[in-house]
Amino acid sequence: MTGVYVHLPFCPYICPYCDFAKWPYKSSAARRYLQALHREIDAAPTSAGEHTVFLGGGTPNTYQAEEIEDLLARLRLKFPSIRETTIEVNPELVAAADLKTYVGAGVTRLSVGVQSFVSSEMRTLGRKHETQQVRSAVAAARSAGIRSVSLDLMFAVPGQTQQSWRQSIQEALALKPDHISVYGLTVEAGTPYAAWREREPAAFPDQDLEADLYEIAIDLLEQAGFEHYEISNFAQPGHHCAHNANYWANGEYAGFGVGASSFKNGVRSAHTRDLEIYLAAASAGLSIPQESERLEGAQRAGEAVMLALRTAQGLSFAALKERYGLEFLEYYAPIVEPYREAGLLEVDAAGARLTRRGRFVANDICATFITLP
Ligand code: SF4
Repeated sequence: MTGVYVHLPFCPYICPYCDFAKWPYKSSAARRYLQALHREIDAAPTSAGEHTVFLGGGTPNTYQAEEIEDLLARLRLKFPSIRETTIEVNPELVAAADLKTYVGAGVTRLSVGVQSFVSSEMRTLGRKHETQQVRSAVAAARSAGIRSVSLDLMFAVPGQTQQSWRQSIQEALALKPDHISVYGLTVEAGTPYAAWREREPAAFPDQDLEADLYEIAIDLLEQAGFEHYEISNFAQPGHHCAHNANYWANGEYAGFGVGASSFKNGVRSAHTRDLEIYLAAASAGLSIPQESERLEGAQRAGEAVMLALRTAQGLSFAALKERYGLEFLEYYAPIVEPYREAGLLEVDAAGARLTRRGRFVANDICATFITLP
């Protein structure tokens, strides 16, 4: 399977923690961007085989539903077999009629950027929607016939408490979504949040509180019947995100748009994040300036191990041996043993996976597998 990611970078407002390639929405810039994107997609070779499509951002639903419909029709000409199509939306811009158009255009998943149901936290995050708009968006998605509805929630937000985080999760569960993603807030260099933390570090939750909040999410969501199938992702049976599952299986993907990443034949690349440079190249039908890196041998294997360990299923030794010729327990012995002894990694004859405790330090553990030479 191959993933197809399309970046739609305009937003109705800019959140102070955000490090994505994004710009405030302006109609003229958005139209110009769409034309450039069409040109880039139209120039791509047709690809057989099964695909997933993910329209991410930015805020894709700053575009009209008919523009999304046209974009998906263009993608279908290049990628005729599409198993799953996701669109990310901001709840305040969701209109019931648009969702029907999306479904007619092939959308099967709606990923709603909620982040919090607590109004003080939403203000801190710079989000502008009301909780009622989330409820309406989910109800409209159901009546439009969208197959999977996913809600994004965020923890480790300044001012968040165990109680307020429980409230957000419970309100999310009350809407009976099919999928919930929970992300710990990361403070990225160069954002207004980075400057805030520099000035006032005590405003941000410490590591202990962050671990407690993550544990609360795991407990509440598992009790509600969600499978914790990846570090940040929980799904009802039959509602795993196939697009992201392909990333974690180290599958190939093609990215379109400013800042979009691709992975093909062992080469990972990322388009320029400079909007004007992207627009000039794509509009002229030229190749998009990008940075690329060929992953070789052990580096490729380390990346595959890191991604597989993010999932509940974990790493299959047989798959690693077949794809990269590596014996996991021999090659990674210096890393694996300490993790095993510390109760962070569970190993059996078929493979390895993080324990519940291991999931709390997943990023640190996973990172060690790509640093081994
Ligand atoms: S809406 Fe999403 S992409 Fe846009 S600024 Fe906020 S967090 Fe970033």
